Amino acid sequence: MTVDRRTVRESATFPPSVIAEIQRAADQGIYDIRGFGGKRRLPNFDDLVFLGASTSRYPLEGYRERCDTSVTLGARHAKKPIELKIPITIAGMSFGALGAHAKEAIGRAATEMGTSTTTGDGGMTEEERNSSKTLVYQVLPSRYGMNPDDLRRCDAIEVVVGQGAKPGGGGMLLGQKITERVAEMRTLPVGIDQRSACRHPDWTGPDDLAIKIRELREITDWEKPIYVKVGATRTRYDVALAAKAGADVIVVDGMQGGTAATQDVFIEHVGIPTLPAVRLAVESLKELDLHREVQLIVSGGIRTGADVAKALALGADAVAIGSAAMLALGCNKPVHEEDYRAIGAEPGYCHHCHTGRCPVGITTQDPDLERRLPPEVGARHLRNYLTVMVLELQTLARACGKSHIHNLEPEDMVALTIEAAAMAGVPLAGTDWIPGRTAF
Ligand code: SF4
Repeated sequence: MTVDRRTVRESATFPPSVIAEIQRAADQGIYDIRGFGGKRRLPNFDDLVFLGASTSRYPLEGYRERCDTSVTLGARHAKKPIELKIPITIAGMSFGALGAHAKEAIGRAATEMGTSTTTGDGGMTEEERNSSKTLVYQVLPSRYGMNPDDLRRCDAIEVVVGQGAKPGGGGMLLGQKITERVAEMRTLPVGIDQRSACRHPDWTGPDDLAIKIRELREITDWEKPIYVKVGATRTRYDVALAAKAGADVIVVDGMQGGTAATQDVFIEHVGIPTLPAVRLAVESLKELDLHREVQLIVSGGIRTGADVAKALALGADAVAIGSAAMLALGCNKPVHEEDYRAIGAEPGYCHHCHTGRCPVGITTQDPDLERRLPPEVGARHLRNYLTVMVLELQTLARACGKSHIHNLEPEDMVALTIEAAAMAGVPLAGTDWIPGRTAF
């Protein structure tokens, strides 16, 4: 008997993906672990559009009139603030999760573009220090690879309280990626799964954060800017507490933020999207009269120059990219397709970083796979991508009549959905209505 496809009804509550996950859990008895960040549809920067210049404002001419993209980070207390040529930085991704070639490629591209890159859980490698002109060193709850000498070799320090993909939790690095080198850097056994700690061992609250920041300043002679990174949750309070604890720069990572590996339930169900997090963070800094004095970096799902422009228009000073940088290096590229299939993936749908069998040589410690990513080739691709993002950002800023990207402002945008209008605090297109603030 043939099935009449018109009579087949998919359950909204139990679609095929949910059925498959229930049956996988029933077979295996363990939660799903994966990389690549949230996959569900979330309100995001696509729901905002710019109001280009018209009769009330005049645009700038791209071929003749300058649109500055420089940004200074950390001038609040540090003797040596960071000067970047572009407002797009590279987020922390660990050596261990990523291979050494990927880390080097990222460092090279960041240096060529005049921006910074960041270490990650597991410490600083020589490859990334040598290839990165401006390197931010993360101090994480796990303290894996923590080396006081590296605090002095870096250009800024980022105290990680939480990450967008897993605020309140720690990442995972499965045993297949724990090679001798990775294990030695972390002083942990080879081949054994590692779970990073969810909180710092030496503090229980914001007072301890202030002490930690002071300690780091003393160790580094008050030279290095100190960042504090939080996953986006209770953003208004977290940003206020980080600023009061003495942070020079605050990094807010929305729930779209990627991760090498953690539980799927964490990735999809904890945290708030980047869009409302930017507005909350900016409001918090303004309430303390610290907006622009404490710089704000936002991350989590930044993909294009348009995303950057919108984040900056809402009041961020810079953005950080992680997943997008990996995609530029070749993540999910349709090559070596048989190797995608061997780990149960397809190009375009892969989130299998945790397996250590990355078909394009990014999230692997296998020398044969890693050879697929020559650092100079990866660096060229990432540099090209960053160049395009900056050109897009300048195009939009000029269209709004801005000679510096930091002159973009919320008044340059409207929202296409009620949700985005409420979250971003800008009017719904065609109205003066900002849900929650003004009457319709
Ligand atoms: S292609 Fe590599 S980096 Fe990209 S999701 Fe798959 S395993 Fe991870």
